[in-house]
Amino acid sequence: MLLDAEIKAQLAQYLQMMEGDVLLKVSAGSDDVSRDMLALVDELAAMSSRIKVEHAELERTPSFSVNRIGEDTEVTFAGIPLGHEFTSLVLALLQVSGRAPKVDKKVIDQIRAITDEYRFETYVSLSCHNCPDVVQALNVMSIFNPGISHVMIDGAAFKGEVESKQVMAVPTVFLNGEPFGSGRMSLEEILAKLGSGPDAAELDDKEPYDVLVVGGGPAGSSAAIYAARKGIRTGIIAERFGGQVMDTLAIENFISVKHTEGPKLVASLEEHVKEYGVDIMNLQRAKRLEKKDMIEVELENGAVLKSKTVIISTGARWRNVNVPGEEEFKNKGVAYCAHCDGPLFEGKDVAVIGGGNSGIEAAIDLAGIVNHVTVIEFAPELKADAVLQERLNSLPNVTVVTNAQTTEITGADKVNGISYIDRASSEEHHVELQGVFVQIGLVPNTEWLKDTLERTRFGEIVVDKHGATNLPGVFAAGDCTDSAYKQIIISMGSGATAALGAFDYLIRN
Ligand SMILES: Cc1cc2nc3c(=O)[nH]c(=O)nc-3n(C[C@H](O)[C@H](O)[C@H](O)COP(=O)(O)OP(=O)(O)OC[C@H]3O[C@@H](n4cnc5c(N)ncnc54)[C@H](O)[C@@H]3O)c2cc1C
Repeated sequence: MLLDAEIKAQLAQYLQMMEGDVLLKVSAGSDDVSRDMLALVDELAAMSSRIKVEHAELERTPSFSVNRIGEDTEVTFAGIPLGHEFTSLVLALLQVSGRAPKVDKKVIDQIRAITDEYRFETYVSLSCHNCPDVVQALNVMSIFNPGISHVMIDGAAFKGEVESKQVMAVPTVFLNGEPFGSGRMSLEEILAKLGSGPDAAELDDKEPYDVLVVGGGPAGSSAAIYAARKGIRTGIIAERFGGQVMDTLAIENFISVKHTEGPKLVASLEEHVKEYGVDIMNLQRAKRLEKKDMIEVELENGAVLKSKTVIISTGARWRNVNVPGEEEFKNKGVAYCAHCDGPLFEGKDVAVIGGGNSGIEAAIDLAGIVNHVTVIEFAPELKADAVLQERLNSLPNVTVVTNAQTTEITGADKVNGISYIDRASSEEHHVELQGVFVQIGLVPNTEWLKDTLERTRFGEIVVDKHGATNLPGVFAAGDCTDSAYKQIIISMGSGATAALGAFDYLIRN
């Protein structure tokens, strides 16, 4: 029995929601993974009379595809979709059976309108929390367009393929055999990448806003809700709605919620923002801000939006270590998310650059998976909390190097080592390893503002107690500002402050 009693009970309820019959085509061999996959398929078939099973030869073994009767739907799972992918399997069964996914009709129409033939392959690890979003989005595309096929491939079950395609981060998506993208992507992002998002003219024609929020993380969402609740015309532009929270696994300090997960919190944020009729323009990047009669925000696609006030909440991103090899080997051994990519380095040697809380948390996490972790910290001692350092020191497979300056990440087609200089002795060292996780903090997303606003030497926007910048009518909130601490709840508070500040400004001007 592959599924425990509790999961089976939940699954039984879901399977009752199937609206039509589905056919699982199963390609199995005599290996252990095939045996477990067959056990899973048999359990599913035993639980619902709507699930039929047929043996077949598919491109990969072990794998199985989920199809409508009499029609190849081309939603395939190679390996066993348990762990984080179990939800992807359940949704595939429901959606192929005819149950509508929770996706806007506009998006479904966009999928149906695609005329090219697309063959997607997504490499995942079952412990990756970013992977199911991508798998589920591509499955939906495959279900609604017969010209699109998608296969989820568990990297652990297809190690040879992962090695030969040099997949070193998950999820990694290939389209028609060529690399397409890596990391979390929403359905809308995938469609935009395929060239089917809203065009510039549509955005250019928008009426001016009272408040235009630039950035759709916790700060921007909170600002938009506070502004819209005043009954004023509010818009929000986001390169990626949700911001850093989309990359966060467990959140346990969002007051009044003991535990949640990033994507779950983002879904609630989006629902709350939509409740007030805010005009959400997702997957749009601002590139210029200028104050004329109104404040103008120009987008990457050339459209110009106008507003009486603007709230900037563009947050922050991972800081690069900026040494030779970092850019070249990104996703080829250089990684930033230990939760996501750690499993791909199972049994290998890796380094973590950075001895702050995030670096040491990553090192502890990785030590349970990889063969050995070398922590490289620039300062003479680690900066992480004592409790984390104690935990780290108790681990047998971790070496800590302090007072060390990383000089290069080396490799040929992928990472094979790291070089650093001992800052006390000026001696050069080289460690042979296969992965480098960069964990040296964040940098604010404010370069696009150039000299339009006052910023600190770190690039953070300077704001007063109303969230106002030095440019009248322009406010800012969250991680992109000079606030002392960068946290979800703090960003939300400052988003509310900036919205109330903007409303106050509108009344007075
Ligand atoms: C791995 C990780 C774990 C974390 N864990 C926690 C935790 O447990 N608890 C906690 O309180 N905090 C945590 N944080 C910190 C928290 O996520 C941030 O403080 C918070 O997300 C900041 O919110 P923000 O809205 O200011 O910015 P962000 O979340 O960074 O959002 C910025 C938004 O602006 C958009 N954007 C950027 N540039 C542009 C542009 N030019 N045009 C248009 N849009 C743009 C982005 O796409 C995004 O929508 C964590 C952070 C990380 C990275």
